[in-house]
Amino acid sequence: MVVKKYEGTVIIEIDEDKCDGNGACVEVCPTDVFDLVEGKSQANRIDDCIECCACVDACHVNAIKHTTC
Ligand code: SF4
Repeated sequence: MVVKKYEGTVIIEIDEDKCDGNGACVEVCPTDVFDLVEGKSQANRIDDCIECCACVDACHVNAIKHTTC
């Protein structure tokens, strides 16, 4: 299992086995935290997270774990 961990004020874990790269998190995140890189989401700007939980709700394969959502 490949789970990538991004740490800032919060922690976001993205399960790359589940992520199918449909880009929902990229679309819904109001602060542009995510990038799609080679078909997988990366939380490259986690310090910009405002903890709205939209990414967790939007991910249809439940690939995103977020410490405050
Ligand atoms: S919780 Fe909200 S602000 Fe934080 S990464 Fe997810 S969509 Fe973006």
